Amino acid sequence: MLDCTTCQWIKWSAGIPLVLLFGAGGFLILAQAAVVQDNAAAVLLDLYLATWAYMLAVAGAALLTGWWLWKSFHTRTAHALRPY
Ligand SMILES: [Zn+2]
Repeated sequence: MLDCTTCQWIKWSAGIPLVLLFGAGGFLILAQAAVVQDNAAAVLLDLYLATWAYMLAVAGAALLTGWWLWKSFHTRTAHALRPY
């Protein structure tokens, strides 16, 4: 497992969906901060940030699902006969 190149790729590529999900969380926090201010510009900004947070969360979840499928598929095929 340690000398498998694909496992290295899988390990590092896990960061992409995690960064997207953390970014979504960050946008949600910014949206919460914007909605405290009671004016039209802040509401528009809040909608904008919330939309970005939603898109990042959906993309992150989709990538995470794909990543998990990739990982389990690779483990079952490449490491079925030689687990380590
Ligand atoms: Zn592997």
